[in-house]
Amino acid sequence: MEGLDNPFLQNLNAVVDILKEKNEYVKVHGKSLLKNDALYKYILETTVYPREHECLREIRLATEEHPLALMAGSPDEVQLLQMLLKVLNAKSAIEIGVFTGYSLLATALALPEDGKIIAIDAVREFYEIGLPSIEKAGMTHKIDFRESTALPVLDQLLSEEKNEGAFDFIFVDADKDNYLNYHERAVKLVRIGGIIAYDNTLWSGAVAALPDEPLPEFDRMFAEHAKKFNTAMVADARVEVSQLSIADGVTLCRRVA
Ligand code: SAH
Ligand code: CA
Repeated sequence: MEGLDNPFLQNLNAVVDILKEKNEYVKVHGKSLLKNDALYKYILETTVYPREHECLREIRLATEEHPLALMAGSPDEVQLLQMLLKVLNAKSAIEIGVFTGYSLLATALALPEDGKIIAIDAVREFYEIGLPSIEKAGMTHKIDFRESTALPVLDQLLSEEKNEGAFDFIFVDADKDNYLNYHERAVKLVRIGGIIAYDNTLWSGAVAALPDEPLPEFDRMFAEHAKKFNTAMVADARVEVSQLSIADGVTLCRRVA
């Protein structure tokens, strides 16, 4: 990733070494909080991979050797998101944090022909890894990709009244320390009855680490963000909440007010 002049990416490089180390672990044990690797493999091989769209599979494989591959969504998780989108009859969505487009393509595939998703990522180079497969899947007409940090895009959307309550589904999967800021925007953008899904809210289980448990500083910091966020969701009367232990922890918030 050297040679890219995106300032966001230069900041990201500061944490890349830590993520690389974590990535090696994820490569062996998979992207699941399940403590039984064989069981997770069973789930993927029995229920998920046989139904995974060919172009999704392509993105997954194209991402596998990326040093930040651990950032891509889990196959079982995106399968669930697809079902949620269909149950919601979702036509309009937002994704905050695209990376190589694995969850984005899954979302686009689950939307109807005239469905739309605004996809935001600060690094277009990541998106371009998956773009050929998204094109091959015939999904680009549903996708409005914005290369930007997410908050300004959300604020710009909210500056137009027509966008209030206009979205059926929002997937939040970017910088974890901004989740509460994203929530304040997302809860206004999603319609009543719509769902906001937040990824990585159990942070490899570190949210439940004991105070004296040896834990890399990085994980301790992100676990703190997640804990603060999880507590805030439960106190927020505007949403119903469900904490899923799938993947790295997904929090579903259904807007009720
Ligand atoms: N949703 C993807 C994974 C996203 S990984 C999937 O499931 O496959 C997180 C992404 O968030 C990275 O691509 C990173 O570039 C992006 N990101 C991090 N901070 C951001 C910010 N402030 N604004 C926009 N994108 C950000
Ligand atoms: Ca994620």
